[in-house]
Amino acid sequence: MSDAKKKCVDAPPEVKYTKILINNEWRDSVSGKTFPTVDPCTGAKICDVAEGDKADVDLAVAAAKKAFALGSDWRRMDASKRGRLLNKLADLIERDREYLAKLETLDNGKPYSDSYNADLDLTIKCYRYYAGFSDKIQGKTIPVDGDFFTYTRHEPVGIVGQIIPWNFPLLMQAWKLGPALTCGNVVILKPAEQTPLTALYVGSLLIEAGFPAGVVNIIPGYGPTAGAAISEHMEIDKVAFTGSTEVGHIIMQAAGKSNIKNITLEMGGKSPNIVFADADLDYAVEQAHFALFFNQGQCCCAGSRCFVEESIYDEFVKKSVARAKKRKVGDPLDPSVEQGPQVDKEQFDKILGLIESGKQEGAKLECGGNRHGDKGFFVEPTVFSAVKDNMRIAQEEIFGPVMQILKFKDINEVIERANTTSYGLAAAVYTRDIDKALTIANSVRAGTVWVNCYDIFCAQAPFGGFRMSGSGRELGEYGLQQYSEVKCVTIKLTQKNS
Ligand code: ADP
Repeated sequence: MSDAKKKCVDAPPEVKYTKILINNEWRDSVSGKTFPTVDPCTGAKICDVAEGDKADVDLAVAAAKKAFALGSDWRRMDASKRGRLLNKLADLIERDREYLAKLETLDNGKPYSDSYNADLDLTIKCYRYYAGFSDKIQGKTIPVDGDFFTYTRHEPVGIVGQIIPWNFPLLMQAWKLGPALTCGNVVILKPAEQTPLTALYVGSLLIEAGFPAGVVNIIPGYGPTAGAAISEHMEIDKVAFTGSTEVGHIIMQAAGKSNIKNITLEMGGKSPNIVFADADLDYAVEQAHFALFFNQGQCCCAGSRCFVEESIYDEFVKKSVARAKKRKVGDPLDPSVEQGPQVDKEQFDKILGLIESGKQEGAKLECGGNRHGDKGFFVEPTVFSAVKDNMRIAQEEIFGPVMQILKFKDINEVIERANTTSYGLAAAVYTRDIDKALTIANSVRAGTVWVNCYDIFCAQAPFGGFRMSGSGRELGEYGLQQYSEVKCVTIKLTQKNS
């Protein structure tokens, strides 16, 4: 066991920040209200957190407006300095990596080893990646007709609202803040009500790194109040959201009804994971297991429709069930544990309800299907075989440790079935045949396709959805487009000799 892991098991993290961050100051909510954040291992309250709503969003907008005013420290800051601040933030997160990983595990329930190795690693890399872009965001010179000189500037959008989910709290904050800040925007960020703690701690690191007051404001609170106040606000120029498709609808409507905000949405999925008979079977079983069960199944891109070619179907199911039964569920601070609790009671109940619907609609429950233990929100790793396309478990996002294995006969059939969904976030294919791999990659309607792998995330590579899975892309150079406006400047030339 590494030192970091030993220490984690010994001592629960102290919660240091529970208030609203506006203008680099910690404050109570205007209403004075608070809400509890809960430990999903036990259902017990960890602490109370200030509950922001419209009045707090208004104060944050005023602070952000000042920070974004022409001539402000932030607007006058050299682009290279913005990059240094982002790198400094990454340094501070790295310094406090162990603490942040513990806090993430406490608030969200994910295994500490995942928080430390996956979430923190990707978070730090994301900030560093975007730090490098600050002084490389550049326009073009354009040969227009006539005696004119035309160039473009890529300017920040302005005041950006960011509404993030609870499944990867630190990482989603990085995916949002990294590109927004490198482009020079100012931000009002609302963490999910289930997991506000790490976002607030990062708020303290933003101050320590030296970001000017008002550049990042963090408002914990609920969706229909604080979240709605952001998406409806007339002075917020853009809203970026990650969460359910249901809420994405509401946000898009609010953005349209108010001031036609620029929007970026990353939402749900029911991603196909297609296994051909020529794939390395044991490898494909392990990958399909990871694709579904990672993060307690709480991934928007989970491989939640596992299509397996007929000739290997029975063998694949047998091996997948054996693997699921081996999955270790329990205390997320125990480094040997693979699966912690679901984030809250609402998710827990929803998952158990969908398992029940799978049984009733005739899918075969191969293993699991129940609560694990008698406290907290743990669910047994569950596998269904004989799943049909029209069953709720094959259509709805379960967001839990529940695997659906479907059978297919040939490539054209599986492409059609893979695309029979209103989502389009991710897809994967396992085969040794390059022709099959490329045919699938070209044919599935999804923003990401993995070939012989799953959940490969890098700050450099864009991520986002087709259709009802999203709008716009995050990460990579593509992610910058969502956070900048292109300004075209044309100058009349009077000299005719050049
Ligand atoms: P989930 O269903 O996975 O909990 P949600 O889409 O409900 O995901 O939540 C994702 C984020 O959206 C959270 O920060 C939540 O508070 C916020 N949210 C929920 N409802 C609204 C709303 N009506 N307007 C704006 N934000 C919302």
